[in-house]
Amino acid sequence: NSSLHEFDPEVAAAVDAELRRQQSTLEMIASENFAPVAVMEAQGSVLTNKYAEGYPGRRYYGGCEHVDVTERIAIERVKELFGAEAANVQPHSGAQANAAAMFALLKPGDTILGLNLAHGGHLTHGMKINFSGKLYNVVPYHVDAETNLVDMAEVERLAKEHRPQLIVAGWSAYPRQLDFAAFRRIADEVGAYLMVDMAHFAGLVAAGLHPSPVPHAHVVTTTTHKTLGGPRGGVILSTAELAKKINSAVFPGQQGGPLEHVIAAKAVAFKAAATEEFRERQSRTLEGAKILAERLTRPDAVEAGVSVLSGGTDVHLVLVDLRHSELDGQQAEDRLHEIGITVNRNAVPNDPRPPMVTSGLRIGTPALATRGFGADEFREVADIIAEALKPSFDAGTAEGLRARVTTLAAKFPLYPGLN
Ligand code: PLP
Repeated sequence: NSSLHEFDPEVAAAVDAELRRQQSTLEMIASENFAPVAVMEAQGSVLTNKYAEGYPGRRYYGGCEHVDVTERIAIERVKELFGAEAANVQPHSGAQANAAAMFALLKPGDTILGLNLAHGGHLTHGMKINFSGKLYNVVPYHVDAETNLVDMAEVERLAKEHRPQLIVAGWSAYPRQLDFAAFRRIADEVGAYLMVDMAHFAGLVAAGLHPSPVPHAHVVTTTTHKTLGGPRGGVILSTAELAKKINSAVFPGQQGGPLEHVIAAKAVAFKAAATEEFRERQSRTLEGAKILAERLTRPDAVEAGVSVLSGGTDVHLVLVDLRHSELDGQQAEDRLHEIGITVNRNAVPNDPRPPMVTSGLRIGTPALATRGFGADEFREVADIIAEALKPSFDAGTAEGLRARVTTLAAKFPLYPGLN
């Protein structure tokens, strides 16, 4: 029963180094966040030892009386948080939540409509070599070439032409809000289910700062680790009518034993997400993204060939368009990494560069908002990024920008108790 440091110094050293990396750099990957210590404590608890196939009160194993408590709390809290009739908190990840939801609603060979991956969709919304692309007949929809907004006229046209059994609305890289009511109207017209994957913006919905898909969709899936700020995992919300189908698609359809330690951590995260402090944090998240968008569309940015897709943002991320910059996505990602800012390169719609290079960056504000950043700090970080993307960038600039990053990171110590 020795500690990690005593028993496995090799792994412990890498974990410590990762903590220092998170503390000393600025995390701006839009899908990442910093889980509270209470969440990590639940996730690192003895609940990891327990087999609990089945659902609370109906398990296939003995000794489930305590994990029944935590799983029931998680279910009740997430239903309350989003106003959903039913919830399944067992999916191990967002991808598995989507797989189970589709397994519940579809037969292999059925047709689904999903946002094209290169236009901001997720792998599980119908990418060719993902399960979704292999099991189902996928008809992708796109963003409009001019506005970069989801082309609802195309969604309607494709729905009428292909009569899908399921329409998936949701995204991994899109800076605006979707019209859930319009998606539902189209789904109803062709007799399809509507599934909304709110993995990215669930935290904003929980805070009441983004329209909720729950009243419109038959099924809503999410991850719990992005804007929601909890442990890595998935959740499926549904109407009461679909609950039985969903539960049986998760277990035994897709998974065996649920990760009860993660489910307990989800419960803790849902408690946090119902607080005023969480709402205030999501509001800084949105404010930070707007500041980024504003600073990356100023004349000096435009002169450097930098702009922002759709001209701004209504959510927690901006998509930087580098099609007119001499920098490609990979070079821009590397440059920001060099000064201590972590982002990911991202294809822009109709990207002229290959997928491993790309012409875009996805930059998100959730993790920095969790760290405590407000408008002043987001202005400073936006200016640092704008400066780093200019052609004048050299070793001297890099040094100056790195020092500014270090100052910002030091202003909001991360996990001070974990050192
Ligand atoms: N759905 C969306 C919209 C996502 O962006 C992601 C993750 O990036 C997922 C699902 C998958 O989540 P996970 O990585 O937990 O499988």
